[in-house]
Formats: sequence, structure tokens, C-alpha cells
Amino acid sequence: MAQGRRVAVAPYFDAPVCAGSVASFDAVVERIEGESGLRGRDLTTFFWGPDAVKNCASDTAFSCASPENDEVHGYVASLSHEIAHVIGGRVGVTASVVEEGFAISHGDICVSSDGAQDRLHSIREYVDLANDEIHGSGGSTIAGHFAIHLSRIYGPQLWSDFKAETPPGVTADELASAFEAAYAVSLDDAEREWFSEAPEKVCPPAREPVTMWTGHPLTLTHDLDCGAVDTLGPFDRTIAVFPSFDDSDIVEAMYVQHRVAVPFVDKWHVELDGPAGARAIFYGFDCIDHGPLSIEQEREILAGDAVDLPMDACTQLIIIAAPPDQPARVELRITRTEGGA
Ligand SMILES: [Zn+2]
Repeated sequence: MAQGRRVAVAPYFDAPVCAGSVASFDAVVERIEGESGLRGRDLTTFFWGPDAVKNCASDTAFSCASPENDEVHGYVASLSHEIAHVIGGRVGVTASVVEEGFAISHGDICVSSDGAQDRLHSIREYVDLANDEIHGSGGSTIAGHFAIHLSRIYGPQLWSDFKAETPPGVTADELASAFEAAYAVSLDDAEREWFSEAPEKVCPPAREPVTMWTGHPLTLTHDLDCGAVDTLGPFDRTIAVFPSFDDSDIVEAMYVQHRVAVPFVDKWHVELDGPAGARAIFYGFDCIDHGPLSIEQEREILAGDAVDLPMDACTQLIIIAAPPDQPARVELRITRTEGGA
């Protein structure tokens, strides 16, 4: 068990947990505390891995939280969402629609309303639904979309005030009153503005810097060391790939990650130097900043390889990894191929 300042990690796998990953989990707790204005418990336990999900009440859950025990279960991709449930639990568990809006707005993924028609619902309509029903009905997506939209206009703390006054069993009228008390605007007016102004897809603020790149030769050199706070590991592929409920989602490795804005569509010459087992993994982000991809969008380069790789003009997630048993220097070089204008 690895322990940071705010998160204890209980892995359901044998791969070593690197210091940088533990530090990044601490940072999630502190970020959500800052956004929500709520103070979580001193220590939250993260049960990590495919078998951890078996602790969840729902058979189809990808992850879950137990706010009463300060525990989260699942993968890194949903860690922010589940830790938000734990921190949000400090003002009490609430009506599921308000609870999910809170967790989604402090999570990492963009939410799409799937066309304007689906948005023509008041969140009042979901007030009586239980947790399973709220996910099945799309109510959690609607609430998350609304909460992120409001967060961008009014700041992220007001949903915490709203949440504090909407316990399970709250009526639709009480929900509307609690909303108006928190936001100083009626729920009807706020929803009207949301219907007409919010884009179909809304995203929480980007939390990782993106390397802007003009296309000049790019060299990324890293001294990876699993005991150092700038080195993550193991590689939880759910941060990039849509979850498959597969043991291979957790890859034994130490790694760093970069988000690089590729300036134009081209074939790029990519070379990787490093010890045996070192690799660079590229994920096209389809010109958006967040969100899981399918596995077809993953491209892997091994140490010693020199390949020409087509890349779209969008933000790419690049993982630079090596086996975790000993410190390693890994260098990735990217240049335009000949013939590039
Ligand atoms: Zn949730």
C-alpha cells in the first residue's frame, strides 16, 4: 500500500505504484476541495484495479465511491468523479440528480448533451430517480451538463450550496427553492439560459498544460524513476482508452505524459531511445482536450524504433514509458518528414 498526504492506494495488482501517481491523487483531492469549497476527510483510500470494481454495488459499474467509508474503487479515469462523491458527502448524500451533477462537474471528462432535444428537460424531472435510474435515464448526463455550464458562469462552489439543501426525498419544488437560494436566480431562468446558450458539449477546465508546438524538431527527454514525484506508474490505460473491463488496462510501467498540440496534419518522423522495454504511446485526441478514445486510436513506438507516423492537427496525448525496476533515461524525437512543406 502506497500512501500520500491525502490518498492511500490499495492496488489490486502487483505492479509498483510510483511516487508521482500517489502525488497526483493527492492533487485531485486538493483541487476538488478548492473548487467545491468543501473540506474532505484527511485520508481517502483508492482501491485500484479491475477487481476493485467488484466491491461496487452495481454489476455494471466501472467505478464507485463509498463516502461513508472514505473509499473509492475503480480506475484513474474516474478517480476525480469518485473522489468528488467522497468530498461532496461532507454536506450529506443528496438526491441522485444533484449528486451526479456535482461529481461530473468536478470530474475530468467532457459531457455531451447529444443534441438539443435531450436538453429540453428540467432537472426537476429526475428528482425522484434512484442512482441506477439516474444513470439509465440519462439524467446524470443532463445534470452534469447543467452543472458544468453553471460552473463556468457562476464558479464551481455554488453547486455545493445547492447540494447541501437537497437531501434524498427532496421534492421538485424544494429543489427549485434550494437552487434559487444558492444561485440567486430561478431554476427556470437558469435552465432557459442553459437551453439557449450552452454548447452541446461542455468540458471541465483543462487541468494539464498542453505543449504548443510550431512544428520545429521536438525532443522530449526524461529521466524516469518510479520513486520520484515526477514519474507516474503503473500506466492505467483508462486515462486514454475507453474502459474494457480487462486486466490489461493496468500496464506495469513507469511513465510521464505530455499533451502536445500538433500544428498541422503531416507524417512525422518519430525516434525513441531508451532501455529495452521503453516505449512511447500516442493517442490522438480528435482535436479535443479530454475524453477517452477507442483502442484503435493508440499507436506504440518501441525503443530503437524510427518510424513515420501520421498525426492529425489536434492535441495528442503522448505517454513515455519504461519498465519500473530501475531508473531509465528515455528520449523521444519528432521531426517533420522530408517533403513536409
Ligand atoms: Zn457518480
